[in-house]
Amino acid sequence: MSEASHDYDVLIIGSGPGGYVAAIRAAQLGLKTACVESRETLGGTCLNVGCIPSKALLHGSELFEEAHDGTLAKFGVRTGKVTIDVSTLQGEKASAVKELTGGIEFLFKKNKVDWLKGRATFVDSHTVEVAGKTHTARDIVIATGSSVTPLPGVEVDNAKGVIVDSTGALELDRVPEHLVVIGGGVIGLELGSVWRRLGAKVTVVEFLDQLLPGMDGDVRKEAAKIFKKQGMELRLATKVTKASQRGKTATLTLEPAAGGKAETLKADCVLVAIGRRPNTEDLGLEKIGLELNKRGQIETDHAFRTKIDGIWAVGDVVPGPMLAHKAEDEGLAVAENIAGSTGIVNHAVIPGVVYTMPEIAGVGLTEDAAKEAGHTVKCGKFPMMANSRAKTNREGDGFVKVIADAATDRVLGVWMIASVAGTMIAQAAQAMEFGASSEDIALTCHAHPTHSEALKEAAMAVTGKPIHI
Ligand code: FAD
Ligand code: NAD
Repeated sequence: MSEASHDYDVLIIGSGPGGYVAAIRAAQLGLKTACVESRETLGGTCLNVGCIPSKALLHGSELFEEAHDGTLAKFGVRTGKVTIDVSTLQGEKASAVKELTGGIEFLFKKNKVDWLKGRATFVDSHTVEVAGKTHTARDIVIATGSSVTPLPGVEVDNAKGVIVDSTGALELDRVPEHLVVIGGGVIGLELGSVWRRLGAKVTVVEFLDQLLPGMDGDVRKEAAKIFKKQGMELRLATKVTKASQRGKTATLTLEPAAGGKAETLKADCVLVAIGRRPNTEDLGLEKIGLELNKRGQIETDHAFRTKIDGIWAVGDVVPGPMLAHKAEDEGLAVAENIAGSTGIVNHAVIPGVVYTMPEIAGVGLTEDAAKEAGHTVKCGKFPMMANSRAKTNREGDGFVKVIADAATDRVLGVWMIASVAGTMIAQAAQAMEFGASSEDIALTCHAHPTHSEALKEAAMAVTGKPIHI
Protein backbone atom coordinates (compact mmCIF):
# COMPACT_ATOMS: atom_id res chain seq x y z
CA MET A 1 0.00 0.00 0.00
CA SER A 2 2.99 2.34 -0.27
CA GLU A 3 2.45 5.58 -2.13
CA ALA A 4 3.52 4.99 -5.71
CA SER A 5 6.33 7.52 -5.35
CA HIS A 6 8.06 5.58 -2.53
CA ASP A 7 9.41 2.03 -2.18
CA TYR A 8 8.06 1.82 1.37
CA ASP A 9 5.57 3.54 3.62
CA VAL A 10 7.98 3.24 6.54
CA LEU A 11 11.67 2.49 6.69
CA ILE A 12 13.26 1.95 10.09
CA ILE A 13 17.01 2.26 10.68
CA GLY A 14 18.09 -0.19 13.38
CA SER A 15 16.53 -3.44 14.57
CA GLY A 16 16.97 -3.11 18.35
CA PRO A 17 13.92 -3.16 20.66
CA GLY A 18 12.94 0.30 19.36
CA GLY A 19 13.34 -0.50 15.68
CA TYR A 20 12.08 -4.08 15.46
CA VAL A 21 8.97 -3.36 17.51
CA ALA A 22 8.23 -0.28 15.35
CA ALA A 23 8.69 -2.39 12.21
CA ILE A 24 6.42 -5.20 13.32
CA ARG A 25 3.66 -2.86 14.52
CA ALA A 26 3.88 -0.73 11.35
CA ALA A 27 3.48 -3.89 9.25
CA GLN A 28 0.59 -5.07 11.46
CA LEU A 29 -1.06 -1.72 10.76
CA GLY A 30 -0.90 -2.42 7.03
CA LEU A 31 2.11 -0.26 6.15
CA LYS A 32 4.72 -1.50 3.69
CA THR A 33 7.75 -1.67 5.97
CA ALA A 34 11.50 -2.17 5.78
CA CYS A 35 14.06 -2.33 8.58
CA VAL A 36 17.75 -1.69 7.93
CA GLU A 37 20.24 -3.52 10.15
CA SER A 38 23.99 -3.70 9.74
CA ARG A 39 24.60 -6.50 12.26
CA GLU A 40 24.57 -10.15 11.18
CA THR A 41 21.53 -10.74 13.37
CA LEU A 42 18.45 -8.73 14.33
CA GLY A 43 17.59 -7.52 17.84
CA GLY A 44 20.16 -4.74 18.37
CA THR A 45 22.26 -4.26 21.46
CA CYS A 46 19.59 -5.79 23.68
CA LEU A 47 19.42 -9.24 22.13
CA ASN A 48 23.00 -9.52 20.84
CA VAL A 49 25.29 -7.85 23.39
CA GLY A 50 23.04 -6.43 26.12
CA CYS A 51 19.99 -7.51 28.10
CA ILE A 52 19.82 -11.11 26.93
CA PRO A 53 23.44 -12.34 27.06
CA SER A 54 23.99 -10.52 30.36
CA LYS A 55 20.94 -12.18 31.88
CA ALA A 56 22.11 -15.62 30.70
CA LEU A 57 25.43 -15.07 32.52
CA LEU A 58 23.67 -13.62 35.56
CA HIS A 59 21.39 -16.67 35.77
CA GLY A 60 24.19 -19.19 35.28
CA SER A 61 26.47 -17.50 37.79
CA GLU A 62 23.62 -17.28 40.30
CA LEU A 63 23.07 -21.04 40.03
CA PHE A 64 26.81 -21.59 40.51
CA GLU A 65 26.92 -19.36 43.56
CA GLU A 66 23.92 -21.05 45.15
CA ALA A 67 25.59 -24.41 44.77
CA HIS A 68 29.01 -23.13 45.74
CA ASP A 69 28.37 -20.82 48.69
CA GLY A 70 26.30 -23.24 50.73
CA THR A 71 22.84 -21.82 49.92
CA LEU A 72 21.68 -25.13 48.43
CA ALA A 73 23.35 -27.12 51.23
CA LYS A 74 21.44 -25.04 53.80
CA PHE A 75 18.26 -26.51 52.35
CA GLY A 76 19.72 -30.03 52.35
CA VAL A 77 20.71 -30.16 48.68
CA ARG A 78 24.07 -31.92 48.62
CA THR A 79 26.04 -31.26 45.46
CA GLY A 80 29.62 -32.40 46.10
CA LYS A 81 32.44 -30.37 44.59
CA VAL A 82 31.06 -27.60 42.42
CA THR A 83 33.06 -26.28 39.48
CA ILE A 84 32.30 -23.85 36.71
CA ASP A 85 32.81 -24.64 33.02
CA VAL A 86 32.94 -21.18 31.44
CA SER A 87 32.72 -22.49 27.88
CA THR A 88 29.46 -24.38 28.62
CA LEU A 89 28.04 -21.28 30.29
CA GLN A 90 29.06 -19.18 27.26
CA GLY A 91 27.53 -21.82 24.97
CA GLU A 92 24.19 -21.65 26.77
CA LYS A 93 24.29 -17.85 26.50
CA ALA A 94 25.03 -18.06 22.78
CA SER A 95 22.09 -20.46 22.27
CA ALA A 96 19.69 -18.07 24.00
CA VAL A 97 20.93 -15.17 21.84
CA LYS A 98 20.63 -17.26 18.67
CA GLU A 99 17.09 -18.40 19.51
CA LEU A 100 15.91 -14.90 20.35
CA THR A 101 17.55 -13.08 17.42
CA GLY A 102 16.25 -15.83 15.11
CA GLY A 103 12.82 -15.23 16.64
CA ILE A 104 12.87 -11.62 15.42
CA GLU A 105 13.84 -12.77 11.93
CA PHE A 106 10.87 -15.15 12.02
CA LEU A 107 8.55 -12.33 13.15
CA PHE A 108 9.83 -10.10 10.33
CA LYS A 109 9.03 -12.80 7.77
CA LYS A 110 5.64 -13.51 9.34
CA ASN A 111 4.71 -9.82 9.25
CA LYS A 112 6.30 -9.20 5.83
CA VAL A 113 8.89 -6.72 7.06
CA ASP A 114 11.82 -6.50 4.59
CA TRP A 115 15.22 -6.70 6.30
CA LEU A 116 17.64 -4.51 4.32
CA LYS A 117 21.11 -5.74 5.30
CA GLY A 118 23.83 -3.12 5.69
CA ARG A 119 24.44 0.37 7.09
CA ALA A 120 21.94 3.08 6.20
CA THR A 121 22.99 6.62 5.35
CA PHE A 122 20.63 9.40 4.41
CA VAL A 123 20.64 10.66 0.84
CA ASP A 124 17.70 12.98 1.50
CA SER A 125 14.82 12.99 3.97
CA HIS A 126 12.93 10.27 2.05
CA THR A 127 15.89 8.24 0.76
CA VAL A 128 18.58 6.11 2.37
CA GLU A 129 21.46 4.23 0.84
CA VAL A 130 22.15 0.70 2.04
CA ALA A 131 24.94 -1.45 0.60
CA GLY A 132 25.15 0.65 -2.56
CA LYS A 133 21.38 0.68 -3.23
CA THR A 134 18.92 3.48 -2.54
CA HIS A 135 15.52 2.93 -0.94
CA THR A 136 12.81 5.52 -0.55
CA ALA A 137 10.12 5.80 2.11
CA ARG A 138 7.37 8.22 3.04
CA ASP A 139 8.40 8.03 6.71
CA ILE A 140 11.78 7.09 8.19
CA VAL A 141 12.38 6.15 11.83
CA ILE A 142 15.87 6.49 13.30
CA ALA A 143 16.33 3.73 15.90
CA THR A 144 20.10 3.38 15.76
CA GLY A 145 20.58 2.90 19.50
CA SER A 146 23.77 3.55 21.43
CA SER A 147 27.36 2.39 21.89
CA VAL A 148 29.83 2.31 24.76
CA THR A 149 31.20 5.68 25.88
CA PRO A 150 35.01 5.53 25.63
CA LEU A 151 37.20 6.63 28.55
CA PRO A 152 40.16 8.75 27.45
CA GLY A 153 43.43 7.11 28.46
CA VAL A 154 41.91 3.64 28.74
CA GLU A 155 41.94 1.78 25.43
CA VAL A 156 39.48 -1.08 25.07
CA ASP A 157 40.54 -4.17 23.11
CA ASN A 158 37.88 -6.85 23.41
CA ALA A 159 39.87 -9.31 21.31
CA LYS A 160 42.75 -9.31 23.82
CA GLY A 161 40.29 -9.68 26.70
CA VAL A 162 42.27 -7.60 29.21
CA ILE A 163 40.76 -4.10 28.93
CA VAL A 164 37.20 -4.69 27.74
CA ASP A 165 33.82 -3.01 27.45
CA SER A 166 30.51 -4.73 28.21
CA THR A 167 30.65 -6.70 24.94
CA GLY A 168 34.10 -8.05 25.86
CA ALA A 169 33.06 -8.76 29.46
CA LEU A 170 30.19 -10.89 28.14
CA GLU A 171 32.63 -12.96 26.07
CA LEU A 172 35.41 -13.76 28.56
CA ASP A 173 36.61 -17.35 28.22
CA ARG A 174 38.10 -17.43 31.72
CA VAL A 175 37.24 -16.21 35.20
CA PRO A 176 39.55 -13.25 35.84
CA GLU A 177 41.59 -13.27 39.03
CA HIS A 178 41.11 -9.55 39.59
CA LEU A 179 38.47 -7.66 37.64
CA VAL A 180 38.46 -3.88 38.01
CA VAL A 181 35.20 -2.32 36.92
CA ILE A 182 35.36 1.37 35.99
CA GLY A 183 31.86 2.76 36.64
CA GLY A 184 29.54 1.69 39.45
CA GLY A 185 26.41 1.85 37.31
CA VAL A 186 24.09 -0.84 36.00
CA ILE A 187 26.54 -2.63 33.69
CA GLY A 188 29.42 -2.52 36.16
CA LEU A 189 27.34 -4.02 38.96
CA GLU A 190 25.60 -6.66 36.84
CA LEU A 191 28.72 -7.91 35.05
CA GLY A 192 30.88 -7.36 38.13
CA SER A 193 28.42 -9.64 39.99
CA VAL A 194 28.66 -12.31 37.29
CA TRP A 195 32.45 -12.62 37.50
CA ARG A 196 32.59 -12.18 41.30
CA ARG A 197 30.17 -15.08 41.74
CA LEU A 198 32.32 -17.21 39.46
CA GLY A 199 35.40 -16.50 41.58
CA ALA A 200 36.98 -13.17 40.56
CA LYS A 201 38.05 -10.54 43.06
CA VAL A 202 36.10 -7.48 41.92
CA THR A 203 36.99 -3.85 42.55
CA VAL A 204 34.52 -1.19 41.41
CA VAL A 205 35.94 2.29 40.81
CA GLU A 206 33.18 4.91 40.77
CA PHE A 207 33.66 8.61 40.17
CA LEU A 208 30.72 9.71 42.34
CA ASP A 209 30.48 9.16 46.10
CA GLN A 210 27.68 6.61 45.63
CA LEU A 211 26.85 3.80 43.18
CA LEU A 212 23.88 3.84 40.78
CA PRO A 213 23.27 7.52 39.95
CA GLY A 214 19.64 8.36 39.31
CA MET A 215 18.30 5.88 41.85
CA ASP A 216 16.77 6.77 45.22
CA GLY A 217 19.33 7.74 47.89
CA ASP A 218 18.28 5.01 50.36
CA VAL A 219 18.57 2.38 47.64
CA ARG A 220 22.02 3.61 46.63
CA LYS A 221 23.30 3.45 50.23
CA GLU A 222 21.82 0.02 50.92
CA ALA A 223 23.06 -1.37 47.60
CA ALA A 224 26.61 -0.34 48.46
CA LYS A 225 26.35 -2.19 51.81
CA ILE A 226 25.03 -5.31 50.12
CA PHE A 227 27.69 -5.38 47.38
CA LYS A 228 30.42 -4.89 50.01
CA LYS A 229 28.97 -7.72 52.08
CA GLN A 230 29.08 -9.88 48.95
CA GLY A 231 32.82 -9.22 48.70
CA MET A 232 33.05 -6.44 46.10
CA GLU A 233 35.59 -3.76 46.88
CA LEU A 234 34.11 -0.32 46.26
CA ARG A 235 36.38 2.62 45.50
CA LEU A 236 33.90 5.50 45.52
CA ALA A 237 34.73 9.14 44.70
CA THR A 238 37.69 7.83 42.69
CA LYS A 239 38.66 8.26 39.05
CA VAL A 240 40.86 6.30 36.70
CA THR A 241 43.18 8.64 34.84
CA LYS A 242 45.13 6.14 32.77
CA ALA A 243 45.63 2.48 31.96
CA SER A 244 48.55 0.63 30.49
CA GLN A 245 48.78 -2.99 29.49
CA ARG A 246 51.74 -5.38 29.53
CA GLY A 247 51.00 -8.90 28.45
CA LYS A 248 47.98 -10.09 30.39
CA THR A 249 48.23 -7.41 33.10
CA ALA A 250 46.70 -3.95 33.12
CA THR A 251 47.95 -1.21 35.42
CA LEU A 252 45.48 1.54 36.27
CA THR A 253 46.28 4.94 37.70
CA LEU A 254 43.65 6.05 40.22
CA GLU A 255 43.12 9.42 41.85
CA PRO A 256 40.51 10.82 44.24
CA ALA A 257 37.73 12.31 42.09
CA ALA A 258 38.42 15.73 43.62
CA GLY A 259 42.12 15.41 42.75
CA GLY A 260 44.98 14.31 44.98
CA LYS A 261 47.59 11.61 45.36
CA ALA A 262 47.67 9.05 42.56
CA GLU A 263 48.04 5.30 43.16
CA THR A 264 48.20 2.28 40.88
CA LEU A 265 46.09 -0.84 40.76
CA LYS A 266 46.87 -4.03 38.82
CA ALA A 267 44.30 -6.33 37.27
CA ASP A 268 44.12 -9.12 34.71
CA CYS A 269 40.81 -7.70 33.46
CA VAL A 270 39.38 -4.18 33.37
CA LEU A 271 35.77 -3.47 32.40
CA VAL A 272 35.05 0.07 31.19
CA ALA A 273 31.36 0.79 31.91
CA ILE A 274 30.95 4.54 32.26
CA GLY A 275 27.81 4.91 30.18
CA ARG A 276 26.63 4.76 26.57
CA ARG A 277 26.22 7.40 23.86
CA PRO A 278 23.77 7.66 20.96
CA ASN A 279 24.71 6.22 17.54
CA THR A 280 24.45 9.07 15.06
CA GLU A 281 27.86 9.04 13.39
CA ASP A 282 27.94 8.35 9.65
CA LEU A 283 24.15 8.50 9.35
CA GLY A 284 24.44 11.53 7.08
CA LEU A 285 22.17 13.64 9.29
CA GLU A 286 23.72 16.78 7.76
CA LYS A 287 22.13 15.77 4.42
CA ILE A 288 18.68 16.16 5.94
CA GLY A 289 19.55 19.11 8.21
CA LEU A 290 18.85 17.24 11.45
CA GLU A 291 20.83 18.63 14.38
CA LEU A 292 21.71 16.92 17.65
CA ASN A 293 21.27 18.31 21.16
CA LYS A 294 24.23 18.95 23.49
CA ARG A 295 24.25 15.30 24.61
CA GLY A 296 24.43 14.09 21.02
CA GLN A 297 20.81 12.89 21.06
CA ILE A 298 18.03 13.43 18.53
CA GLU A 299 15.21 15.51 20.03
CA THR A 300 11.60 14.63 19.24
CA ASP A 301 8.13 15.79 20.25
CA HIS A 302 5.73 13.55 22.22
CA ALA A 303 4.79 11.72 19.03
CA PHE A 304 8.51 10.95 18.31
CA ARG A 305 8.58 13.35 15.34
CA THR A 306 11.89 15.14 14.77
CA LYS A 307 12.12 18.68 13.41
CA ILE A 308 12.39 17.25 9.87
CA ASP A 309 9.15 16.34 8.17
CA GLY A 310 8.77 12.57 7.76
CA ILE A 311 11.69 11.73 10.09
CA TRP A 312 10.99 10.15 13.48
CA ALA A 313 13.27 8.76 16.20
CA VAL A 314 12.97 6.35 19.17
CA GLY A 315 15.03 4.42 21.70
CA ASP A 316 18.54 5.08 23.01
CA VAL A 317 19.19 7.68 20.30
CA VAL A 318 16.56 10.03 21.85
CA PRO A 319 16.55 11.49 25.41
CA GLY A 320 15.40 9.41 28.37
CA PRO A 321 16.66 6.29 30.12
CA MET A 322 18.57 3.89 27.86
CA LEU A 323 16.31 0.90 28.48
CA ALA A 324 14.97 -1.78 26.18
CA HIS A 325 11.36 -1.55 27.38
CA LYS A 326 11.37 2.24 26.96
CA ALA A 327 12.66 1.75 23.39
CA GLU A 328 9.99 -0.91 22.73
CA ASP A 329 7.14 1.27 23.97
CA GLU A 330 8.41 4.16 21.86
CA GLY A 331 8.68 1.81 18.87
CA LEU A 332 5.04 0.80 19.27
CA ALA A 333 3.92 4.40 19.71
CA VAL A 334 5.83 5.77 16.71
CA ALA A 335 4.32 3.13 14.42
CA GLU A 336 0.82 4.01 15.64
CA ASN A 337 1.50 7.72 15.07
CA ILE A 338 2.88 7.15 11.57
CA ALA A 339 -0.21 5.10 10.74
CA GLY A 340 -2.39 8.03 11.80
CA SER A 341 -3.48 6.53 15.11
CA THR A 342 -2.33 7.69 18.57
CA GLY A 343 0.75 6.32 20.25
CA ILE A 344 1.72 7.61 23.70
CA VAL A 345 4.50 6.76 26.14
CA ASN A 346 4.24 7.97 29.72
CA HIS A 347 7.87 8.78 30.40
CA ALA A 348 7.08 9.48 34.06
CA VAL A 349 6.43 5.78 34.64
CA ILE A 350 9.34 3.79 33.18
CA PRO A 351 10.60 1.15 35.61
CA GLY A 352 14.33 0.45 35.90
CA VAL A 353 15.84 -2.78 37.20
CA VAL A 354 19.38 -3.84 38.09
CA TYR A 355 19.48 -7.63 37.78
CA THR A 356 21.93 -8.34 40.59
CA MET A 357 21.03 -10.55 43.56
CA PRO A 358 19.08 -9.09 45.22
CA GLU A 359 17.57 -7.13 42.34
CA ILE A 360 17.29 -3.35 42.60
CA ALA A 361 14.30 -1.63 41.03
CA GLY A 362 12.53 1.68 40.92
CA VAL A 363 9.82 3.60 39.13
CA GLY A 364 8.79 7.26 39.23
CA LEU A 365 10.47 9.93 41.33
CA THR A 366 13.19 9.46 43.93
CA GLU A 367 12.51 11.09 47.30
CA ASP A 368 14.92 13.93 46.49
CA ALA A 369 13.45 14.48 43.01
CA ALA A 370 9.92 14.55 44.45
CA LYS A 371 10.96 17.24 46.95
CA GLU A 372 12.76 19.20 44.24
CA ALA A 373 9.56 19.06 42.19
CA GLY A 374 7.78 20.84 45.07
CA HIS A 375 6.00 17.89 46.70
CA THR A 376 5.77 17.44 50.43
CA VAL A 377 6.28 13.71 50.66
CA LYS A 378 5.33 10.90 52.99
CA CYS A 379 7.45 7.75 52.70
CA GLY A 380 6.68 4.22 53.86
CA LYS A 381 9.45 1.64 54.15
CA PHE A 382 9.29 -2.07 54.84
CA PRO A 383 12.33 -4.37 55.20
CA MET A 384 12.44 -7.66 53.29
CA MET A 385 13.68 -9.26 56.53
CA ALA A 386 10.14 -8.81 57.90
CA ASN A 387 8.50 -10.34 54.81
CA SER A 388 7.66 -13.95 55.60
CA ARG A 389 8.46 -15.38 52.15
CA ALA A 390 11.78 -13.58 51.82
CA LYS A 391 12.71 -14.62 55.35
CA THR A 392 11.80 -18.24 54.68
CA ASN A 393 13.78 -18.27 51.44
CA ARG A 394 16.72 -16.66 53.30
CA GLU A 395 16.47 -13.61 51.04
CA GLY A 396 16.20 -10.98 53.74
CA ASP A 397 18.38 -8.26 52.19
CA GLY A 398 16.65 -5.10 51.04
CA PHE A 399 13.44 -3.15 51.54
CA VAL A 400 10.55 -1.55 49.70
CA LYS A 401 10.05 2.22 49.86
CA VAL A 402 6.87 3.96 48.72
CA ILE A 403 7.01 7.72 48.20
CA ALA A 404 3.62 9.46 48.21
CA ASP A 405 2.46 13.06 48.03
CA ALA A 406 1.59 14.09 51.60
CA ALA A 407 -1.48 16.08 50.56
CA THR A 408 -3.09 13.75 48.00
CA ASP A 409 -1.49 10.38 48.94
CA ARG A 410 -0.81 9.83 45.23
CA VAL A 411 2.17 7.49 44.72
CA LEU A 412 5.08 9.43 43.23
CA GLY A 413 7.72 6.73 43.25
CA VAL A 414 8.49 3.21 44.44
CA TRP A 415 12.01 1.88 45.06
CA MET A 416 13.07 -1.53 46.23
CA ILE A 417 15.84 -4.02 46.78
CA ALA A 418 14.55 -7.58 46.86
CA SER A 419 15.44 -10.91 45.25
CA VAL A 420 12.51 -10.52 42.83
CA ALA A 421 12.30 -6.70 42.70
CA GLY A 422 12.31 -6.78 38.87
CA THR A 423 9.02 -8.66 38.94
CA MET A 424 7.54 -6.75 41.89
CA ILE A 425 8.13 -3.34 40.31
CA ALA A 426 5.55 -4.05 37.59
CA GLN A 427 2.76 -3.77 40.13
CA ALA A 428 4.06 -0.39 41.30
CA ALA A 429 4.30 0.83 37.69
CA GLN A 430 0.75 -0.26 36.96
CA ALA A 431 -0.57 1.33 40.14
CA MET A 432 1.14 4.61 39.21
CA GLU A 433 -0.18 4.40 35.65
CA PHE A 434 -3.68 4.22 37.17
CA GLY A 435 -2.91 7.21 39.44
CA ALA A 436 -3.00 5.07 42.60
CA SER A 437 -2.72 6.41 46.14
CA SER A 438 -0.62 4.54 48.68
CA GLU A 439 -3.93 3.58 50.29
CA ASP A 440 -5.03 1.90 47.03
CA ILE A 441 -1.96 -0.36 47.18
CA ALA A 442 -2.40 -0.94 50.92
CA LEU A 443 -6.04 -1.99 50.43
CA THR A 444 -5.27 -4.36 47.54
CA CYS A 445 -5.29 -7.99 48.62
CA HIS A 446 -1.84 -9.53 48.00
CA ALA A 447 -1.33 -13.30 47.97
CA HIS A 448 0.45 -14.77 50.97
CA PRO A 449 3.25 -15.66 51.30
CA THR A 450 4.79 -13.53 48.53
CA HIS A 451 7.58 -10.99 48.35
CA SER A 452 4.96 -8.58 46.96
CA GLU A 453 3.36 -8.31 50.37
CA ALA A 454 6.34 -6.09 51.23
CA LEU A 455 5.00 -3.51 48.75
CA LYS A 456 1.59 -3.60 50.43
CA GLU A 457 3.22 -3.20 53.85
CA ALA A 458 5.42 -0.30 52.63
CA ALA A 459 2.25 1.35 51.30
CA MET A 460 0.61 0.76 54.71
CA ALA A 461 3.69 2.32 56.32
CA VAL A 462 3.06 5.57 54.44
CA THR A 463 0.29 6.23 56.93
CA GLY A 464 2.31 4.63 59.72
CA LYS A 465 0.43 1.36 60.12
CA PRO A 466 2.25 -1.70 58.74
CA ILE A 467 1.30 -4.97 60.48
CA HIS A 468 4.38 -7.15 60.42
CA ILE A 469 6.94 -4.79 61.92
P1 FAD B 1 19.86 -0.85 19.96
O1 FAD B 1 19.37 -2.03 20.68
O2 FAD B 1 21.22 -0.33 20.27
O3 FAD B 1 19.76 -1.20 18.40
C1 FAD B 1 20.17 -0.34 17.43
C2 FAD B 1 20.55 -1.16 16.21
O4 FAD B 1 20.75 -0.26 15.13
C3 FAD B 1 21.85 -1.93 16.35
O5 FAD B 1 21.64 -3.29 16.08
C4 FAD B 1 22.78 -1.31 15.32
O6 FAD B 1 23.60 -2.27 14.67
C5 FAD B 1 21.79 -0.73 14.32
N1 FAD B 1 22.32 0.42 13.59
C6 FAD B 1 22.90 1.54 14.10
N2 FAD B 1 23.20 2.40 13.10
C7 FAD B 1 22.79 1.80 11.96
C8 FAD B 1 22.82 2.19 10.59
N3 FAD B 1 23.30 3.38 10.22
N4 FAD B 1 22.34 1.33 9.69
C9 FAD B 1 21.85 0.12 10.05
N5 FAD B 1 21.78 -0.29 11.31
C10 FAD B 1 22.25 0.54 12.25
N6 FAD B 1 18.10 -2.54 28.98
C11 FAD B 1 17.09 -3.05 29.70
O7 FAD B 1 15.98 -2.52 29.67
N7 FAD B 1 17.25 -4.17 30.46
C12 FAD B 1 18.45 -4.79 30.56
O8 FAD B 1 18.57 -5.80 31.26
C13 FAD B 1 19.54 -4.26 29.82
N8 FAD B 1 20.74 -4.86 29.87
C14 FAD B 1 21.77 -4.33 29.14
C15 FAD B 1 23.02 -4.94 29.25
C16 FAD B 1 24.09 -4.45 28.52
C17 FAD B 1 25.45 -5.13 28.64
C18 FAD B 1 23.91 -3.33 27.66
C19 FAD B 1 25.05 -2.81 26.83
C20 FAD B 1 22.67 -2.73 27.55
C21 FAD B 1 21.60 -3.22 28.30
N9 FAD B 1 20.34 -2.61 28.26
C22 FAD B 1 19.31 -3.11 29.02
C23 FAD B 1 20.07 -1.43 27.42
C24 FAD B 1 19.36 -1.87 26.13
O9 FAD B 1 20.15 -2.83 25.46
C25 FAD B 1 19.12 -0.66 25.23
O10 FAD B 1 18.44 0.34 25.96
C26 FAD B 1 18.29 -1.04 24.02
O11 FAD B 1 18.92 -2.06 23.28
C27 FAD B 1 18.05 0.17 23.13
O12 FAD B 1 17.31 -0.20 22.02
P2 FAD B 1 17.39 0.60 20.65
O13 FAD B 1 16.43 -0.07 19.73
O14 FAD B 1 17.25 2.04 20.88
O15 FAD B 1 18.88 0.40 20.11
P1 NAD C 1 25.51 4.00 33.86
O1 NAD C 1 25.21 5.38 33.49
O2 NAD C 1 24.48 3.16 34.49
O3 NAD C 1 26.74 3.98 34.88
C1 NAD C 1 27.97 4.56 34.59
C2 NAD C 1 28.69 4.85 35.90
O4 NAD C 1 30.00 5.26 35.60
C3 NAD C 1 28.05 5.99 36.67
O5 NAD C 1 27.88 5.59 38.01
C4 NAD C 1 29.05 7.14 36.53
O6 NAD C 1 29.06 8.00 37.65
C5 NAD C 1 30.34 6.35 36.42
N1 NAD C 1 31.42 7.05 35.76
C6 NAD C 1 31.35 7.89 34.69
N2 NAD C 1 32.58 8.30 34.34
C7 NAD C 1 33.45 7.68 35.19
C8 NAD C 1 34.86 7.68 35.31
N3 NAD C 1 35.63 8.37 34.49
N4 NAD C 1 35.41 6.93 36.29
C9 NAD C 1 34.64 6.19 37.14
N5 NAD C 1 33.29 6.17 37.05
C10 NAD C 1 32.71 6.89 36.08
O7 NAD C 1 26.12 3.33 32.55
P2 NAD C 1 26.45 1.82 32.20
O8 NAD C 1 26.51 1.00 33.43
O9 NAD C 1 27.64 1.88 31.31
O10 NAD C 1 25.18 1.39 31.37
C11 NAD C 1 24.86 2.07 30.15
C12 NAD C 1 23.39 2.06 29.89
O11 NAD C 1 22.93 0.76 29.62
C13 NAD C 1 22.62 2.60 31.05
O12 NAD C 1 21.96 3.75 30.63
C14 NAD C 1 21.65 1.55 31.41
O13 NAD C 1 20.36 2.07 31.51
C15 NAD C 1 21.72 0.53 30.29
N6 NAD C 1 21.72 -0.78 30.92
C16 NAD C 1 20.58 -1.18 31.55
C17 NAD C 1 20.56 -2.40 32.21
C18 NAD C 1 19.32 -2.81 32.92
O14 NAD C 1 18.28 -2.23 32.67
N7 NAD C 1 19.37 -3.80 33.79
C19 NAD C 1 21.67 -3.20 32.24
C20 NAD C 1 22.81 -2.76 31.61
C21 NAD C 1 22.81 -1.54 30.93
